[in-house]
Amino acid sequence: MTPPPRTATLFHDVRPFGGPARDLVAVDGLLAAEVPADARVERVDGGGRLALPTLVDAHIHPDKTSWGEPWHSRRPAHGIAEHVAGDVELARALPAPVGERALRLMSHAAARGTRAMRAHADVAPAYGLAGIEGVAEAAGKLAGVVDVELVAFPQHGVVRTPGVAELLAEAAASGLVTHIGGIDPAGFDADGDQLGTVFALAEKHGLGLDIHLHDRGERGLAPLRDIAARTRALGLRGRVSVAHAFAVAGLSGRELDETADLLAEAGIALTTVALSATTILPFRRLAERGVRIGLGSDGVRDSWSPFGNADMLHRAWLAAWALDARLDEELEACFRLAADGGAELLGLPKADLRPGSPADFMLLDGECLPQAVVDLPRRDLVVRAGRVVARDGRLV
Ligand SMILES: [Zn+2]
Repeated sequence: MTPPPRTATLFHDVRPFGGPARDLVAVDGLLAAEVPADARVERVDGGGRLALPTLVDAHIHPDKTSWGEPWHSRRPAHGIAEHVAGDVELARALPAPVGERALRLMSHAAARGTRAMRAHADVAPAYGLAGIEGVAEAAGKLAGVVDVELVAFPQHGVVRTPGVAELLAEAAASGLVTHIGGIDPAGFDADGDQLGTVFALAEKHGLGLDIHLHDRGERGLAPLRDIAARTRALGLRGRVSVAHAFAVAGLSGRELDETADLLAEAGIALTTVALSATTILPFRRLAERGVRIGLGSDGVRDSWSPFGNADMLHRAWLAAWALDARLDEELEACFRLAADGGAELLGLPKADLRPGSPADFMLLDGECLPQAVVDLPRRDLVVRAGRVVARDGRLV
């Protein structure tokens, strides 16, 4: 019996990174130098469009979103505790269950060119495990379209909220999550050994860690050193990330370099969400010194903020805006943070449109990469593993 012919998809007349028009050939999920002789060929006309790699959202909260729900008017809130109360109130008020809202937002992200994401979902007595179950359900429905890592996030604090540690243990054993989260162990959740609890769970269940660290100055830097020491001691190199790390954003010169070296040596990655010039991490300097770093959406239209849209090209725009980018190389660096930085963080092969790399790319009506970062053209076609998964901003 002869095996069925392989299928190659030929994307005709596209311009990788704005270069000359050519064909991209996808075979078995990867880009190939040419169409194999024995392959059956499917042809997609690119119409001379710009081809760019699809992107990775290294930090998003799909469980909190009100995306696609009736407009939610927010009340004033100050500090994490008041925002947390707002999360609970919003979750109770929204008509759609978490799985439906998460799927809506994650589908939207995928149709805008997100190929993978690390999603945080709250674990607290107010919700039980409904957050991680809902996001896991959405991730299952999007298998093959967007890869999802899932963090059990103790937004309400492990020490300050009774019941969270037990729920985290349940989440860790559930098989649904890839990471255990944490939050401000010297500020919001200071009166106990949060780090001891979350590191023990990660070690016991073979999971990674991804810890929110908003505290600035020494209150943020001391836990960072503690996290580095625990990571080394437990042999978790390469499996620990710290989100936001505003304390690192406040460093420069020798202090920044020393902190970068500490993180690189312990194999700790960072994620940044491009909120502003003072909170975005100096990612180029950090990467130069060997720190893996990714870009993320954070909360999208949730109780914390009416803003956000889970569009990672727009997030690259925000990073460029926050950094006052002007040169092409500065605009491109923001895109690469979303493309390559996130891929490295999630352990995915880099999508760079070369033969042998994943056939993960998007086609846009644009001229070149820096121009696309500024103009944010519609994603006319999104391709995942050689398959067209979205057209004109909608999943197919
Ligand atoms: Zn977050």
